[in-house]
Amino acid sequence: MSPRPERLEADVAIVGAGPVGLTLAMDLAQRGCSVVVLETRQRGEPPNVKCNHVAARTMEQFRRLGVAADVRNAGLPPDYPNDVVFRTAVTGVELARIHIPARATRYTDTSGPDGWWPTPEPPHRINQIYLEPILFAHAEARRGVTIRNRAEATSFEQDERGVTVQARDLDSGAALVVQAQYLIGCDGGRSMVRKAIGAAFVGTPVIQKVQSTYIRAPDLLARVSGRPAWCCYAYNPRRSGVCFAIDGRETFLIHNHFHPSEDDFDAVDRDASIRHILGVGADFRYDVISKEDWIGRRLVAERFRERRVFICGDAAHLWVPYAGYGMNAGIADAMNLSWHLASHLAGWAEGAVLDAYEIERLPITDQVSRFAMDHAQQMIKARGAVPRRIEEPGAEGDAIRAAFGRESYDLNVQQFCCAGLNFGYFYDRSPLIAYDGEPAPVYSMGSFTPSTVPGCRAPHFRVADGRSLHDACGPDYTLLRFDTSVATERLVEAARARRVPLAVLDVPRGVAPTEYRHALVLVRADQHVGWRGDTVPDDAIAWVERLRGAVPLTDRSPS
Ligand SMILES: Cc1cc2nc3c(=O)[nH]c(=O)nc-3n(C[C@H](O)[C@H](O)[C@H](O)COP(=O)(O)OP(=O)(O)OC[C@H]3O[C@@H](n4cnc5c(N)ncnc54)[C@H](O)[C@@H]3O)c2cc1C
Repeated sequence: MSPRPERLEADVAIVGAGPVGLTLAMDLAQRGCSVVVLETRQRGEPPNVKCNHVAARTMEQFRRLGVAADVRNAGLPPDYPNDVVFRTAVTGVELARIHIPARATRYTDTSGPDGWWPTPEPPHRINQIYLEPILFAHAEARRGVTIRNRAEATSFEQDERGVTVQARDLDSGAALVVQAQYLIGCDGGRSMVRKAIGAAFVGTPVIQKVQSTYIRAPDLLARVSGRPAWCCYAYNPRRSGVCFAIDGRETFLIHNHFHPSEDDFDAVDRDASIRHILGVGADFRYDVISKEDWIGRRLVAERFRERRVFICGDAAHLWVPYAGYGMNAGIADAMNLSWHLASHLAGWAEGAVLDAYEIERLPITDQVSRFAMDHAQQMIKARGAVPRRIEEPGAEGDAIRAAFGRESYDLNVQQFCCAGLNFGYFYDRSPLIAYDGEPAPVYSMGSFTPSTVPGCRAPHFRVADGRSLHDACGPDYTLLRFDTSVATERLVEAARARRVPLAVLDVPRGVAPTEYRHALVLVRADQHVGWRGDTVPDDAIAWVERLRGAVPLTDRSPS
């Protein structure tokens, strides 16, 4: 007779301890929920050497979770430039440079194109291999979080009372059962959870193939003239590629972008391509640490939910990593879902609040995926147009290089300083948001207009005592009051009557940016605006009912 399987119980089961699953676990625990995370990798097993960019919006969430300082202090050496350069080869002539401050001066150096960003936490460059252990340590230390490594979730069943996840220990083969109220698949691009809920990936399966190699090359930096850079685009007629500094000393990730005619990862000479990208001869020595080939895609799941089961991160969407936003978008999914789920589990939000997750996130995801795909197509075109004489010495060569450098800068500054992806997106059809008829400003990958139109991210500023707005706001709803003559007691009373956590923060008008034109602005847990007005609504209870998901989905009228 086989032994009875071990049983674990939690409010929420998460499949996958990648960056999205770990951040979700932390946030749920911070909101008072118990969580079991199942992960096939063994404890400490590194992920693939993929993601290098942690967006400002993600750093803001890490700040709220108390993780930002540890993340900021890891990765490249403190003074290693985070710049992006364009060269004829990694060791070749520099064509242009996007200045992104090193982490030592990241809070004070505002001279780069992202220096003006309205955020308490600018972006950070760090590879996933350094980021994930930090997230793991913080998640594991949280009360309420249980992480089971070498545990593969194999199937699940759900009914009106909860979800039962079947898993097995990959070392002992023993069965493990997790009983939870909700299940969230953060199990990456091949997600078992997504497939099991029948949510098909829709989009473009192949945009670009990239032969990618993680190397150790201790002599490379000495051969680079000028200042080093976090990311170097190499353009020459033989090969175009990208080189990312991983440890800032001797390890690098080299992406060899295939020409449209190339298809087979094994048919293209890896070593010759790497040497063309680096601009080094046969005498140069390096070791291959791992092969990290990848295919750029644009795939978005047609649904993010099936009753008690949700998907987040790569499980829900995969796109070509221009602007470095796959993980960041996944963490934004997780922070959206976590708040909705925790508010329902705490008893103050209706089950319908959970509908908001897909309604809010799916359109944004689709839009970002299209930005990334459009950019990929422009990059393919740019690689096909590398001037044949780009390496030619002399004045004519200089002019060719200057022109190509300018074009490269203009095309790429929007992906490396993607203000729009960070701060521009808005939720335009949420059942939880009270719209007032003013359209949200359009945004692009690289630009946005700060706005308090409901659904937009509340523009950041420092409150009177100098604290970041994000630090001053509570963990749930915060009503910013710019005019103390407007009595908010009726809203506070109504919120109390429905057990909706609502904090009121008085802000002298002079400290806020001009976008704050209304006397009252309601900021949600995810810093998006939920409502604004100059007076308290007549029906305060109806106002609160919307916030807690008690207004039917069909009723989107302004209130
Ligand atoms: C070359 C490249 C560069 C990139 N650069 C960036 C960047 O700069 N910025 C950015 O934001 N994104 C970037 N991305 C994307 C980023 O790497 C992913 O979006 C991110 O890893 C997704 O995180 P996740 O937690 O959703 O999934 P994953 O990282 O895939 O984690 C899923 C986890 O689930 C586990 N798992 C899977 N199935 C099971 C199961 N059945 N049971 C238990 N565990 C399971 C896996 O072991 C894994 O640990 C890049 C991607 C590539 C390919």
